[in-house]
Amino acid sequence: MTANAASDENVVVECRDCAFREAVRNLGRARVALDDHETATGHEVDWEIRRVAAGVERAGADAGVCGLPNRSTPETPLLDYEDDA
Ligand SMILES: [Zn+2]
Repeated sequence: MTANAASDENVVVECRDCAFREAVRNLGRARVALDDHETATGHEVDWEIRRVAAGVERAGADAGVCGLPNRSTPETPLLDYEDDA
């Protein structure tokens, strides 16, 4: 169950105020990373779920996570954050 865990990151924590960005494996870690950065910098940090698994989807709804409007293939591991800047 843990063999490929390192490449199975599915939650991205991203700061709105700086370049801070971190991919983690679950919402628990995301919450810690988010909290960490907000506490340290006072920035506003957001998160997004890249690959929705059964349990994660429910937890995400709990946390009020917004979906990507153009996310047509939520299963793909290749989905990366799109930034036109
Ligand atoms: Zn920041």
